[in-house]
Amino acid sequence: MNYIVDDNGFYGKFGGAYVPEMLYPNVEELRQNYLKIIYKPEFQKELQALLKDYVGRPTPLYFAKRLSERYNTKIYLKREDLNHTGAHKINNTMGQILLAKRLGKKRIIAETGAGQHGVATATVCALMGLECIVYMGEVDIERQAPNVARMKMLGASVVPATSGSKTLKDATNEAIRDWINNPEDTYYIIGSVVGPHPYPDMVARFQAVISEEMMAQLQEQTGRDYPDYVVACVGGGSNAAGAFYHYLDRPEVKLVAVEAAGLGIESGESAATSVLGKEGIIHGSRTLLMQTEDGQVVEPYSISAGLDYPGVGPLHAHLHQSGRAVFESITDDEALKAVLELTRLEGIIPALESAHALAALDRIGAKPEDVVVVNLSGRGDKDLATYLKRFHFDEE
Ligand SMILES: *Cc1c(COP(=O)(O)O)cnc(C)c1O
Repeated sequence: MNYIVDDNGFYGKFGGAYVPEMLYPNVEELRQNYLKIIYKPEFQKELQALLKDYVGRPTPLYFAKRLSERYNTKIYLKREDLNHTGAHKINNTMGQILLAKRLGKKRIIAETGAGQHGVATATVCALMGLECIVYMGEVDIERQAPNVARMKMLGASVVPATSGSKTLKDATNEAIRDWINNPEDTYYIIGSVVGPHPYPDMVARFQAVISEEMMAQLQEQTGRDYPDYVVACVGGGSNAAGAFYHYLDRPEVKLVAVEAAGLGIESGESAATSVLGKEGIIHGSRTLLMQTEDGQVVEPYSISAGLDYPGVGPLHAHLHQSGRAVFESITDDEALKAVLELTRLEGIIPALESAHALAALDRIGAKPEDVVVVNLSGRGDKDLATYLKRFHFDEE
């Protein structure tokens, strides 16, 4: 079995590039050039230097002793929370902005839901001195004020999407409209392994640095370059794709993808696409998505804004359907419990998204001698307001 995208942009029956004709030249330009450009030695040299000195890579692989005792297995945390801007997202935006420069683009657009991808994009645009326009739903602009402030401080224009539910999918529509209108000078940085081919494959390759480092770090720390389990949360699926990437064709490594169940799978307030989703087309690719009988996208819900996405990338749809990865779903309450557990056992405050992966630790059935890597996708600073509201420290 091969889990790398095929020549037509598909993972099994998922993927492809279902874009309006007006967008075809942009996507085609990217498809023809991305591999040629990103594996050039001078591109890799610039990217590796920035990942090291600016982003702060390699991120540590940390043996979590007290957490391991709690679950009676050997747990290592891949510390993506220690990256500049607090999550894995910058691995991808850094790669794409270097590509945009090589393609001669002057103007960068992006869409963002929670604002994390917007911040990671605005950051690399400031670094490179490129104009940055971030589309964001009006509702999300209100919900995510600190990230909006960060983007503006970094010099980005944050443009509200005022149609539909005024959230991520509406912001994406606005970004696509912009790209159609500005095909020559504009580059669209997509923030996860979603969108038309070649985006899912390109983003996975930029995030693959996570599992590349894991192999060397595990070799050094355990004497073996692979774990028994890799566990990662899935919104669109980019941190999971990066953590799984170099183990996709190694069946001895069990891959666990963790989605947000929100208030519960049956509650109508959920983002567990692998359970609730059906095949369809969203953001230019065929994948699993939550939709009504007549194909309208269902508004997802999770306490964690980064997992609040109505689909999964086509690679994950394929991993689910082929059974290569096990999918779990974790409720808001279970994730919150995992936040406090990691904080109190290890002194690390995780992002709500990453806490979903941690909460799956008692589901996977790991044995005492097993090595489990949890990809800690981000830090909890951005979620402090939620934590203060949900944990009642004054009563302790
Ligand atoms: C955005 C985000 C996610 C979800 O995105 P993926 O593409 O699924 O990785 C997970 N964790 C954090 C901290 C995020 O910011």
